[in-house]
Amino acid sequence: MGALVKIKLFAADDREANAALREAFGRIARLDAILSDYDPESELNRVCRGAPERPVPVSADLFRVLQFAQGLAMETDGAFDVTAGPLNRLWRDARRYRTLPDAQALGRTRDLCGYRKLELDAVNRTVKLDVRGMQLDLGGIGKGYAADEAITTLSRRGVQSAFVNFSGELRFIGSPPGETGWRIGLKWQRLRLTNGAVSTSGGEEQHVCIHNVSYSHIIDPRTGQALTEPGTVSVVAPDGLHADSLSTAISVLGRERGSSLIERWPGVAVMTSAQSSVLGGVPFGMGDG
Ligand code: ADP
Ligand code: MG
Repeated sequence: MGALVKIKLFAADDREANAALREAFGRIARLDAILSDYDPESELNRVCRGAPERPVPVSADLFRVLQFAQGLAMETDGAFDVTAGPLNRLWRDARRYRTLPDAQALGRTRDLCGYRKLELDAVNRTVKLDVRGMQLDLGGIGKGYAADEAITTLSRRGVQSAFVNFSGELRFIGSPPGETGWRIGLKWQRLRLTNGAVSTSGGEEQHVCIHNVSYSHIIDPRTGQALTEPGTVSVVAPDGLHADSLSTAISVLGRERGSSLIERWPGVAVMTSAQSSVLGGVPFGMGDG
């Protein structure tokens, strides 16, 4: 997934800690081979080549992530949309060459996107893409899911205190020995949390300035345009699947629609740079750090 992963954990001894780490990184490597957009041979990319016009059976992991993503796409009327791969690639080139895509290219690319063109069959666990040339992109959700699975792997081994940093997607259980939680420094706030996830989207990373306008790597699939005033959105949630995808979704939706969206998700809180305050109810074990 083109990302650096760091894991910190506490265990009874070195041997136990190393064995647990190896297992967690093994799980992450297997998920990378499924979810990565960068690896042409990932299951995701093989499905994109094979699934146009006919249903293709997929792994339980890929199906779970796609099913969650489709639910969020419906709830946000397509503000979060994993079928926007062709648009993401178009804007990736725009950032690389510092040239905006022209209207024609944008129109052609938009025809290849749209969550309604992705069909999931939960009974047969298959995926079908309605149009040839569609490209699924899990860049806004896959790291959160992989961080969840790393933590699940560690928990199963009996590890009670661990922190996974999946290139900025934070997922953790327990707390360091003798402390009341993991200290997490956000731009505007310091948190101390025990079980959950924190994800930050937008901000200064990965944007480019063209004709004095700053274009983000988050796009609005409803218009095909890259966000120009994304600000920074941090989401605290019970797990990484929610935190990662909701931070991307809320970046697109903006403050108002974002706050009504999270009311439906228990245990989720949002902080945005525009207002430096908490939008939703603050969940579990949060102190002043
Ligand atoms: P980061 O990857 O820096 O953590 P995000 O979690 O916000 O940032 O995800 C941004 C990535 O998500 C983009 O690089 C792209 O792959 C994908 N993406 C961009 N816009 C959307 C969108 N509207 N819906 C779903 N995924 C998106
Ligand atoms: Mg995200």
